[in-house]
Amino acid sequence: MRRAITLLSASMIALTAGAASAQNAKPRNLILFVPDGLRGGIVTPETAPAMAEIRDKGVHFKNSHSLFPTFTMANSSALSTGHYLGDTGTFSNTIYTGYTSVPAGDTVVPFIENDAVLADIDDHFSGDYLNEETLLKMARGQGFSTAAIGKVGPTLLFDHTDRGKNTIVVDDSTGGKTGVPLSDEMKEALTKAGLPLATPSRGDNAKAGDAKTPGTTVANVAQQAYMADVATKVVLPMFKARNKPFVLVFWSRDPDGSQHNTGDSLNTITPGINGPTSMAGIKNADNNLAQLRKALDELGLSATTNIMVSSDHGFSTISKESKTSPSAKIAYDDTPKDFLPMGFLAIDLAKALNLPLFDPNDKNAKVADNAHPRPATACSARTRRSLMSWSRPTAART
Ligand SMILES: [Zn+2]
Repeated sequence: MRRAITLLSASMIALTAGAASAQNAKPRNLILFVPDGLRGGIVTPETAPAMAEIRDKGVHFKNSHSLFPTFTMANSSALSTGHYLGDTGTFSNTIYTGYTSVPAGDTVVPFIENDAVLADIDDHFSGDYLNEETLLKMARGQGFSTAAIGKVGPTLLFDHTDRGKNTIVVDDSTGGKTGVPLSDEMKEALTKAGLPLATPSRGDNAKAGDAKTPGTTVANVAQQAYMADVATKVVLPMFKARNKPFVLVFWSRDPDGSQHNTGDSLNTITPGINGPTSMAGIKNADNNLAQLRKALDELGLSATTNIMVSSDHGFSTISKESKTSPSAKIAYDDTPKDFLPMGFLAIDLAKALNLPLFDPNDKNAKVADNAHPRPATACSARTRRSLMSWSRPTAART
């Protein structure tokens, strides 16, 4: 536990209410708020007032950095366990499992932002593929109430072996076929609060676009409003009524989701992720944080609750054009001339090494000379997007 807390603290800003907290033997509550893909330097009182206030009035760990520049699951494995990636084995959003994962679409490199895929991998590795204790599992072992709410994948990781039996899990898949089940207590409380038992879809925010069609121009507002309502109208009041300390993780897909899918910058570098859609994604996450703080105030929990805000990684805009990559010299149906195709690195390596290329997402079929590898079945949009922009560590992070 001590190691976990130490590592987490290194990448966070924290607001600790109450001057006597260090002397107070009573355990304090914790909200860990993760704005996915947020660049620390973009936070100002104008762009993200709730985050700026916590940074400016609380403790700011200004030299923090992600453990892996680009990937949510790699960093969430660290945030959820306090361990480096060499311990968790989660070096990316797709990992090589050494067996064919059926729920991931019959591939040995499953995309793991998926509750069913995480369960499948756990099943194949003695029930716990991370093989490290997670933060929420430890917290509930110490008598805390626990909940993880937010983006599918990193959210479940905080208590993935429990799968909703003790820790409340609400993510994109809640109420769906692959979702973690809700307890009867949660179903009743949601119904009483007038909230549906299934998370709404991302709607237009999920529109990734392609080389010819711009992506979305709206942030992930509706889906995250549901999650924020679940947290503030159901989970926090429930935790208060239990009269026990709690840990709540809120993993906001925005701004990452809006930055990946932004329709502001089709095949151009500017405005890139500084366009209005990305900025709306930052504000959307900030609004969720403000709503959580307001609920703490209204429930009388502010004085006993610490809030930590930490992004998982930063973000940057990249060009997909190349004058030198051999993969960009081939014509593909779905890729503009001189642009890098899906799987460009694999193509270039195969050419440099004069070796054949096989596609794990196409039942290990050989990739033809004028073709490129496919995205994984379960994650086509995501994989395509991850090539359009990647994220990088930032010197300062919130
Ligand atoms: Zn992320």
